[in-house]
Amino acid sequence: MSTPVSDSETPVRADGYPAPMFEPFHADEDGFDTDVVVVGLGPAGGVAATALATYGVRVHAATVFPWVANGPRAHITNQRAVEVLRDLGLEDTARQQATPWDQMGDTLFTTSLAGEEIVRLQTWGTGDLRYGDYLKGSPCTMLDLPQPQMEPILLNAAASRGAVLSLNTEYLDHAQDEHGVTVTFRDGRTGDVFTQRARYLLGFDGARSRIVEQLGLPLEGELARAGTAYIRFKANLTQYVEHRPSILYWIFNSHAGFGEIGMGLLRAIRPWEEWIAGWGFDMAAGEPDLSDEKVINQIRTLVGDPNLEPEILTKSLWYVNQQHATRYSEGRVFCGGDAVHRHPPSSGLGSNTSMQDAFNLAWKIAFAVKGYAGPGLLDSYSDERVPIGKQIVARANQSRKDYAGLREWFDHDDADPVTAGLSKLKAPTPEGVALRERLYEALELKNTEFNAHGVELNQRYTSAAVQPDPTLGEEEWSRHPELYLQATTRPGAKLPHAWLVGTDGRRTSTLDVTGKGQMTLLTGLAGAAWADAADKLELPFLKTVIIGRPGAADPYGQWQQIREIPEAGALLVRPDGYIAWRHNAEVWDIDEAATLLEDALCAVLDRPNRHDGTAGAGDRQQYSTRPVDITVPAHTPATGSGS
Ligand SMILES: Cc1cc2nc3c(=O)[nH]c(=O)nc-3n(C[C@H](O)[C@H](O)[C@H](O)COP(=O)(O)OP(=O)(O)OC[C@H]3O[C@@H](n4cnc5c(N)ncnc54)[C@H](O)[C@@H]3O)c2cc1C
Repeated sequence: MSTPVSDSETPVRADGYPAPMFEPFHADEDGFDTDVVVVGLGPAGGVAATALATYGVRVHAATVFPWVANGPRAHITNQRAVEVLRDLGLEDTARQQATPWDQMGDTLFTTSLAGEEIVRLQTWGTGDLRYGDYLKGSPCTMLDLPQPQMEPILLNAAASRGAVLSLNTEYLDHAQDEHGVTVTFRDGRTGDVFTQRARYLLGFDGARSRIVEQLGLPLEGELARAGTAYIRFKANLTQYVEHRPSILYWIFNSHAGFGEIGMGLLRAIRPWEEWIAGWGFDMAAGEPDLSDEKVINQIRTLVGDPNLEPEILTKSLWYVNQQHATRYSEGRVFCGGDAVHRHPPSSGLGSNTSMQDAFNLAWKIAFAVKGYAGPGLLDSYSDERVPIGKQIVARANQSRKDYAGLREWFDHDDADPVTAGLSKLKAPTPEGVALRERLYEALELKNTEFNAHGVELNQRYTSAAVQPDPTLGEEEWSRHPELYLQATTRPGAKLPHAWLVGTDGRRTSTLDVTGKGQMTLLTGLAGAAWADAADKLELPFLKTVIIGRPGAADPYGQWQQIREIPEAGALLVRPDGYIAWRHNAEVWDIDEAATLLEDALCAVLDRPNRHDGTAGAGDRQQYSTRPVDITVPAHTPATGSGS
């Protein structure tokens, strides 16, 4: 576009309008308008855009919506997702806007908020038996952060770090070739269709993903196997809940008892004035009656207050899916989030898993764009995340089924099922004893939804980006793998959290001294050979952390206890906090360390290796050589409640 200069020397366009002050899309010398296009600005797209911008990659992220999620949707933000935010320098901002961990409290099962309570479970690790596990497992606490609050934090960070964000912009199609992807969009305000050339396209476009469909990614499972009504409303319910804070109140009630869960739900959005009322409906009978009269009556029944005057904010229906993709990518296009795993909110795994998909992928894309890694690294995305998607889809659906035992006392056959059920439940008879025993067993089972620390933190990766430790056999789980975190430095596991002490005398986590877009070589004071070897390699994406030195002191001896390798051994930690490789033996010789380290890095990153003859002139030419520095957030996150 030519830009004539007017008399006043203000650049103007040929049509007379002033030239834009900021032109977001410049083609580079290779003809790419941007390095990465991200479709979707939900939790997955938001993390991808933020991480890529943070790592210094040119990224354009677009959403068809005019703004962020218009309903509360996801809220339970597990420790791993908060760790992702922490690495991106956003944990403090998120915590300021969230309902704090201790307020997430107990999960109640009751006949109404005003009515008789049946059982209560201490949940999300806040209970006496689990509190220490959660504190020990991570520098971060869980948070309750509704999606409309989370997404602006991500969008703000992405844009302020250089991502170009487009709202009201609909992705239409793409065509890929050996070198890049041409993406077609429609501007929702003008209707104009435009294309953009990128090296990679990320399809984070939600459960109705057009990109997954266009790629024909294979999907297993079924959609819409049950239906749920969700009504968002305002009412001050403080008197019913302040003394027993929780974010989820399950209600046994014959008017809201349809389906697998068979209970109504009151979910606190903003304690204690904004809520969601939810209940299952019979899909075979068509869409349920959501007239004001009907939903107000339903809310009154769930609360147990016939005079309550709720202010109805929104009414919606959503459907229970049980579907996952068995491959997440095709060539230069990578999908993630709800686009590839579709499941109900039970267990609170949706946005959390979506954010982790993005975090797993972003550094790999950044390394490919910068020429630090080969295409094999990008293949590892699908290899690593598909099993996780499959697992969480199964877990979330199973969590719905596991409610069955809790409502066995409820007497559906009686005209007044609650009163009749309560009398059965309290019966001073052998039948009553047996019923109560089964009720507590059913409650115990719900720990796999509400205290599933293992589901949240025990993810293990198997791929070429994780090199096995030959000294290890199959992992043996010492406790229930869904309930308890098993922290380990085995390759493919997340780096265990241990409190270290920084130069300022404050606690800092092992997670704080690693990550931030770089590979980390982690060793101990006796690992000088490793540090010298890493220096010799002079790799811009590799930093060395020596535990015991200033900045990473181990006065508590926590790292000493959990490192599982000798002090003169080494770990290679990926930018996403997962262990790529470990050397479980002492090394004192610099050349030996350099060879081992280089071999490991080449294998993990799919780089040409001098030792096996795969390195040669021109090997890197297929990738961008545009020099872009990794930018690390200046902000060092404060430590979590454990500090
Ligand atoms: C009622 C409910 C409660 C939930 N509770 C929880 C919970 O407690 N914890 C949890 O972890 N998860 C929960 N979830 C799930 C969570 O909301 C999703 O898993 C999460 O939003 C998925 O994130 P995403 O980024 O993959 O997709 P989405 O958030 O769906 O975002 C998709 C993005 O793609 C964009 N898009 C789609 N098509 C196009 C197109 N053609 N062009 C341009 N843009 C497009 C959209 O505009 C949007 O920005 C809940 C969901 C529901 C419905």
